Amino acid sequence: MELKTLPLSHPKTKPQDEGKLNFGQIFTDRMFVMEYQAGKGWHSARIEPYGPFSLDPASAVLHYAQEIFEGLKAYRHPDGKIALFRPADNIKRFNCSATRMCMPEVDEEFFLSAIKELVRLEADWVPHNEGTSLYIRPTMIATDPYLGVKPSDTYLCYVILSPVGAYYKGGFSPVKIWISDQFVRSAPGGTGEAKTGGNYAASLRASMEAAAKGFDQVLWLDAVERKYVEEVGSMNICFYLDGKVITSPLHGTILDGITRRSILTLIKDMGIEVEERALSVDEILEGARTGRLKEAFGTGTAAVVSPVGQFTYRDETVSVGDNQVGELTLKLYETLTGIQYGQRNDPHGWIELI
Ligand SMILES: *Cc1c(COP(=O)(O)O)cnc(C)c1O
Repeated sequence: MELKTLPLSHPKTKPQDEGKLNFGQIFTDRMFVMEYQAGKGWHSARIEPYGPFSLDPASAVLHYAQEIFEGLKAYRHPDGKIALFRPADNIKRFNCSATRMCMPEVDEEFFLSAIKELVRLEADWVPHNEGTSLYIRPTMIATDPYLGVKPSDTYLCYVILSPVGAYYKGGFSPVKIWISDQFVRSAPGGTGEAKTGGNYAASLRASMEAAAKGFDQVLWLDAVERKYVEEVGSMNICFYLDGKVITSPLHGTILDGITRRSILTLIKDMGIEVEERALSVDEILEGARTGRLKEAFGTGTAAVVSPVGQFTYRDETVSVGDNQVGELTLKLYETLTGIQYGQRNDPHGWIELI
């Protein structure tokens, strides 16, 4: 497919103070867009000035949430070059989410080249300060103007870019986690392994209640027994227990995180055993009480690694590693961000310069 680039007449003013950048509030000058029509396939791929879409109020996505997205980042290296981290994995996952939501797949090679071209054109928007990056948000929405419940025949796929600030502005500090025995994020047979907006809409209520009680994130338990750990907020989670790192297996209800995958590889590189198995809330609480649970951390593109300081379940609060950032957590954070920002070598070939 041909990729057209439309002219840009009114470039925006770029943020002056990179120290003030937050997450996902500012968008660059251009976006990638392509359209889908059943029978015709994807067409009209173009990079055009960033701006609002005109959508029919009956558009399927607005009623039945047939929508998927991705999240990855472009990092500025010390030599000024710009790198993506395992972008092909994000596009593969985008297609897995598409299949789950009855949406059309994209051509992986074309979509990656389009994302690279967009980032290349917007290279001046990739910030320079430590910990900053350009967040990339591929999205697909169903656009049929029809209120019947069925997969749409038309779709819009687009990519927008947002310069984001350092996640750990106040330092790399441990978070407080609320283990919910009431709300669940996803159930077997549901859409938990797809990156789709509805999962997030459904999670808001628990997050709000957690925040009102003074917690930073919610830890989700499995929907059937309300016993086994699944994810924390919108991150995967790992536990450093009895000298091994344990994380929940990919069995359909959790997201196959690219940070999770990378961190597990780095842990094995360090000679530490990894176990992907069901881990109960009792095992975690008992591990924390007895000091056998040395560290716990979330993993995801936004935070990279997020150290956990304490868990609260019903009336009990337990600390992990005296509420301090653990040695392994810090080492993993430094290793992975070192690779992403081009400060360390990249033995697994995860970095793709553009
Ligand atoms: C995106 C996401 C993650 C993290 O995936 P990464 O590829 O590591 O960014 C984890 N859990 C959920 C629910 C997510 O949506």
